[in-house]
Amino acid sequence: MQSAVLDHRRSPLTRLRAWVKTITFYELLVGMKATMKHFLNYRPITLQYPHEKRTLPDSYRGMLSLLRYDDGTEKCVGCDLCEAACPSRVIRVVSGEVPGEPTKRYAKEYYMDMTRCLFCGLCVEACPVDALGMTREFEWAVYDKRDLHLNKQQLLAIGDRSYPVREKRLELQHPNTAFFNVAFQHVPQKPD
Ligand code: SF4
Ligand code: SF4
Repeated sequence: MQSAVLDHRRSPLTRLRAWVKTITFYELLVGMKATMKHFLNYRPITLQYPHEKRTLPDSYRGMLSLLRYDDGTEKCVGCDLCEAACPSRVIRVVSGEVPGEPTKRYAKEYYMDMTRCLFCGLCVEACPVDALGMTREFEWAVYDKRDLHLNKQQLLAIGDRSYPVREKRLELQHPNTAFFNVAFQHVPQKPD
């Protein structure tokens, strides 16, 4: 009733326009115009994975890895700091003394249960010798979760393929460390 009163108050020209729009389905055509515009300028945004892959950002945090120095020696000194820093209890380190070098330690065994990892990067931050690195690997879907329990050799292999350019040994970067090792190299080795 109210709309009929309002319609009555509109000018004849406005009413004629509204009538023409109604009989020509004007609003429908406006909607179809927008649809056709997108249809004719169609650019798919879905990537056809695995044939197409997304460009990862520089800060991408993928699978973890253990790193080596340029002469192939492992960087890890078995200090357990990464194990302590990890909020998800992913890491287990069994450390030991380097044979013949009682002032040095290394990771005899190193395990990561990647089913629990949050990829937070706290372990990488905690490592005092930059022995851990986050790679850009993400294609780690497996049928058996046990395949994501990685040991030291597997983690080193990931590091080898993700970080082909390696740092010099710490002794060569910091001569003081070399002096320390030389000065204490005659200290008798403790039994393992
Ligand atoms: S990235 Fe985070 S959750 Fe994963 S192992 Fe390192 S500290 Fe633990
Ligand atoms: S990876 Fe780094 S923090 Fe973890 S045990 Fe080895 S040296 Fe220590």
